Amino acid sequence: MLGPTGTKTESDCAPRSRLFNVEPQAGHYGVESLTSYVGRLARKHYISMSSMIHDVLIPALDKTYLNTMRDGGGTKFLAQSGSLNGIGDGATTLVQTVQNLTHRSDLYRLTLLPFKHLISDRGLIKHHRAWCSACLQEMNDSQMDVYEPLIWILQVVQVCSLHQQTLEQLCPCCHRTLFWWERYASPGYCKCGGYLGVRATVAMQCSVEEFKRQIYYTSTLNTLTYLAFGNAELVKQISVKEYIQTLTSVLKISRADLSRKLNIPKNTLHGWYHETNRIPLPVLLDICYSAHQKLVFTPKFNPKDHNRQCLSTSKIQTRLQASLSQCPPPSLRALASELRIDRRLLSRKFPELARQIALRFQIYVTEKRKERLSRLALDIKRAIVAVRSDGKSPTQRNVEEYLRKPGLLREKCLKEIWSKERAIVPRFGSGGKKKF
Ligand SMILES: [Zn+2]
Ligand SMILES: [Zn+2]
Repeated sequence: MLGPTGTKTESDCAPRSRLFNVEPQAGHYGVESLTSYVGRLARKHYISMSSMIHDVLIPALDKTYLNTMRDGGGTKFLAQSGSLNGIGDGATTLVQTVQNLTHRSDLYRLTLLPFKHLISDRGLIKHHRAWCSACLQEMNDSQMDVYEPLIWILQVVQVCSLHQQTLEQLCPCCHRTLFWWERYASPGYCKCGGYLGVRATVAMQCSVEEFKRQIYYTSTLNTLTYLAFGNAELVKQISVKEYIQTLTSVLKISRADLSRKLNIPKNTLHGWYHETNRIPLPVLLDICYSAHQKLVFTPKFNPKDHNRQCLSTSKIQTRLQASLSQCPPPSLRALASELRIDRRLLSRKFPELARQIALRFQIYVTEKRKERLSRLALDIKRAIVAVRSDGKSPTQRNVEEYLRKPGLLREKCLKEIWSKERAIVPRFGSGGKKKF
């Protein structure tokens, strides 16, 4: 089922791949993720992710449940798209499919599949997309084909070690969170068309020690993904047993003591040690970090309070009040993320403030949406005239290509504008009545 081996076929002509055989990125910013790779493929073919998923991938994957999801709108599929970079069957199937479509054989290195023998999928993948705005900006500035590194999908990765800044999770334009695949998004861009290379959130509020730990996690994972990309066989030599042995010898304690320090049942540690069970990645990193520090053993992992931070009620209230004079107004979701508190908890504790924040944000988003639509309506009108003056028909595809925005006219209201304008704009600019 995997792609061709690179050797010549029986026929004189090698069969052509259905999708471009694009090189995966694995440069300065890290190894690319599979979802980013497919996003770049869509961009190179001038099609939206929606077309890529509905017209290319789902038919090629040929799974009944995917057809059912597609017929139901496909949102469920998008919500699970992060796991396509992971260690499960979804990732394996997508790798095989995209390899067949591109005639490549190395795409599993863009997922966590090389680590499948080592780590469990517990607490592994972020549900929502995350990115370093500085990395995206630098890629854009250096005219690179913007891509998103694999490690950004990991829950445990909260910072960029290159830029020493927290990863973003809210679009700076529409202030919404995103799934790893969206119908009209692409690497570096939101589904609203907004560019993600702009810093939108404030700096992470955490101790120096916590930040140091985060940087260590990110650098270690960068090294591991480079290692897997260069030679996946080497990853097989990584042994949890060795890490546990190093840690117990550094700390001069028994495995039973270690399990107490980690607050993990002895049997669980035993399973990891003898490699009968796979270890959650955050725990593995905690063990590596503690061994690396060689000083004080400071296990961090606790899935329940991994992201929790204690802030006093008055501090939260002051921040919420200050947000009412902020321009543009932040969303309640953005504030919750900044304060690292559950959004529903904020609404429950500060109902009036939460209501005002939500209302201001809603008005702002409505205004922004109107602005965006009128800007795009103007672009569409101009594109129709330009396409016609080139002697071509202003079809959906031609207009999208002219604007370099594949999939743009799939948005219902923009399609309506296109359809209306196409009917009234005079052909070949023959001096009609329509004005801009
Ligand atoms: Zn960065
Ligand atoms: Zn957006």
